[in-house]
Amino acid sequence: MKVVAVGGYDEVGRNMTAVNIDGDTFIFDMGIRLDRVLVHEDTDISKMDPIELSSRGIIPNTSVVKGDIKAIILSHGHLDHIGAVSRLAANYPAAPLIGTPYTIELIKHEMKYSGGLPNQLVTLEGGETLQVSQKVTLEFIRATHSIPQTVLCALHTPEGIILYANDFKLDDTPTLGDGPDYKRIKELGKEGVKALIVETVRAERDGRTPSEAVAQKLLEENLLKSDPERGMIVTTFSSHVARIAGIVEIASRMGITPILLGRSMQKYSTIAESLKLVEFPKDTRIYGDKKAITKALKKVMKDGKEKFLPIVTGHQGEPDALLTKIANRSTPYTIEKGDQIIFSSDVIPNPINAANRYALETKLKWQGARLFKNTHVSGHSSKEDHRDMLNMLQPENIIPCHGDLKLISGYVELAEELGYSIDKDIFIRRNGQKVVL
Ligand SMILES: [Zn+2]
Repeated sequence: MKVVAVGGYDEVGRNMTAVNIDGDTFIFDMGIRLDRVLVHEDTDISKMDPIELSSRGIIPNTSVVKGDIKAIILSHGHLDHIGAVSRLAANYPAAPLIGTPYTIELIKHEMKYSGGLPNQLVTLEGGETLQVSQKVTLEFIRATHSIPQTVLCALHTPEGIILYANDFKLDDTPTLGDGPDYKRIKELGKEGVKALIVETVRAERDGRTPSEAVAQKLLEENLLKSDPERGMIVTTFSSHVARIAGIVEIASRMGITPILLGRSMQKYSTIAESLKLVEFPKDTRIYGDKKAITKALKKVMKDGKEKFLPIVTGHQGEPDALLTKIANRSTPYTIEKGDQIIFSSDVIPNPINAANRYALETKLKWQGARLFKNTHVSGHSSKEDHRDMLNMLQPENIIPCHGDLKLISGYVELAEELGYSIDKDIFIRRNGQKVVL
């Protein structure tokens, strides 16, 4: 059995792993790397040049993927996990794309723009199994993260279970959907996990990652204590439907109208609504295209900023996102002294992001805005969550993924505390390398 590190082993982004068993290959995820070209959730990747996408390291280099591709398994709907599907899946036309209903709806939405794919689309819910080759069965196990319907993916093979856990957090009080399926995770541990392929994005952080319920409390504090005479804007991840639903709910409680603004805000929220994962209050407004956004912001300025809560993209200061445009005064919305901007996000730590975010904050402050930063909790497991997971699963081998060498090494140190040793049963791999088990 071979596990091939295709993408996400040198960086946070462009996740892709291939597992080869007796010539049959199963692919986990096909992601893009968001920071490479400052693409964000509002960027239309299908319009970007494919040569540029691979030469600039935005999509994974698939030349190392060999064998008869039996399935492409998608763990969740974040772009660093599914963003390259429209570019790469057609290279394996016979392989079905398998994901939870929300993930598959996002793929369908993407295909409307990119012109379709030959692959069959298959939905599988957390708790369900599917035969993916003569000897291998796929199982989805319910997990929590920062986008609906994230799952852990288990391949049941004659040589044991391969468990792909990328991404997840252990949230016992999620605000949308159910918590992780601990019962099943423990059972898998008893059945025998041959290899755990596991994310490392926040593995260096001490303690546990707080629940999404904590983020909701932080939002409540900042919103309910806000100055009702002044304008207020919240910026967050458009794919974080639980977060957005919470913000919308607080706005309704305050008697102000929530307005979701941006192409990606519209995409993630309306798909979640169509699958009945959320139900926004009737007064919620959602506008995706430029004209509608301009019109909506004009109305906000005319009727009074304090009567509305715009929820917008641009929390990293991305140059073409809405909050940046507002700060640049290139929309009808003007920031005035005392207006309140809530960042329901952290800063993704890379120099370009830091510079963009600095520029954005500076412009907002010049115009007199009050900034409320870090009204946020992470969607990724911290060190003690990972330790719990290892204790439950007792994997025979570990292959850490989704991180640069520093993040992956941090995870290795944790595993060493639990008795694992490098190259014996925990393996550090770079993009393009493999582990033979
Ligand atoms: Zn994710």
